[in-house]
Amino acid sequence: MSHPEISIVIPVFNEEAGLPELFARLYPALDALATRYEVIFVNDGSHDRSAALLRSQFQSRPDVTRVVLFAANFGQHMAIMAGFEKSRGDIVITLDADLQNPPEEIAALVDKMREGHDYVGTIRRQRQDSAFRRYASRAMNRLRERITRIRMTDQGCMMRAYSRAIVDAINDCHEVSTFVPALGYTFAQRPTEIEIGHEERHAGESKYSLYSLIRLNFDLMTGFSLVPLQWFSMVGIVISMLSGLFVIYLAVRRLIVGPEVQGLFTLFGIAFFLIGLTLFGVGLLGEYVGRIYQQVRHRPRYLIDAMLEAETDD
Ligand code: UDP
Ligand code: MG
Repeated sequence: MSHPEISIVIPVFNEEAGLPELFARLYPALDALATRYEVIFVNDGSHDRSAALLRSQFQSRPDVTRVVLFAANFGQHMAIMAGFEKSRGDIVITLDADLQNPPEEIAALVDKMREGHDYVGTIRRQRQDSAFRRYASRAMNRLRERITRIRMTDQGCMMRAYSRAIVDAINDCHEVSTFVPALGYTFAQRPTEIEIGHEERHAGESKYSLYSLIRLNFDLMTGFSLVPLQWFSMVGIVISMLSGLFVIYLAVRRLIVGPEVQGLFTLFGIAFFLIGLTLFGVGLLGEYVGRIYQQVRHRPRYLIDAMLEAETDD
């Protein structure tokens, strides 16, 4: 038996409401490709019936379904990483479980990969998200493109295809807190992007708050680039030169005009601004130190409770 051509990796966290429809649309779309495929679901410690639904789906299609059951919630990207480690296909495609990425678009991704690309990103044709989220993500995109060499029109769309070589490279990284599409992009030699449809989340709720979106963008900036630190030291140099001049100016004034208290609030303003800047710098340093801390601990990135798969001879 040869290995599958296509592996689909789907992280699942509390998606019981949407899973039945996902199964109903995903499998026909894959069968229509008429090639060998496998679907790897990674249950990221769901508290609802997701694991049970995955188990019964495994029982009805054991030939093409494999399920990784995490022992706890380790996050979407760790779930994808675990799926990558188990995947065997030449083309590995990631998908969200909430049907925001229509499974019918898989065929288009596969076509692009067969043309010889090793990374196919996607752009949501009509984003079904709030205007605020659209605007915020456009601004973050622009910032990320200045800071890192990662070029992604639509970083929020997880439906992407990766070549075997890229997935192997990602597996070798053992990164702890990362953003898979960006990590994959850094290894891509012939990346491309296509437009795909985008739907409302079919059921359940988004797992991400504004807070975690901010966190994600920090991961993107500090996980892939030193530019924030470098910019910060440049700002530090400029400000310390300016304050040096300011101190000289104040000293000269003291000699010429004598003691004075006017402009006290201006001084306060300047001091507060500098304190704010310093705190930001400490926080920024902390982002990097935190990443180093997590990475050097060498703790297991996730714990697998069980794996559901048919007996294979490879
Ligand atoms: N997800 C996960 N672990 C988590 C959070 C989310 O595996 O801790 C999965 C979730 O089930 C879904 C995907 O990651 O398949 C994207 O999550 P969601 O749709 O909530 O994110 P959004 O589309 O709002 O960015
Ligand atoms: Mg979603």
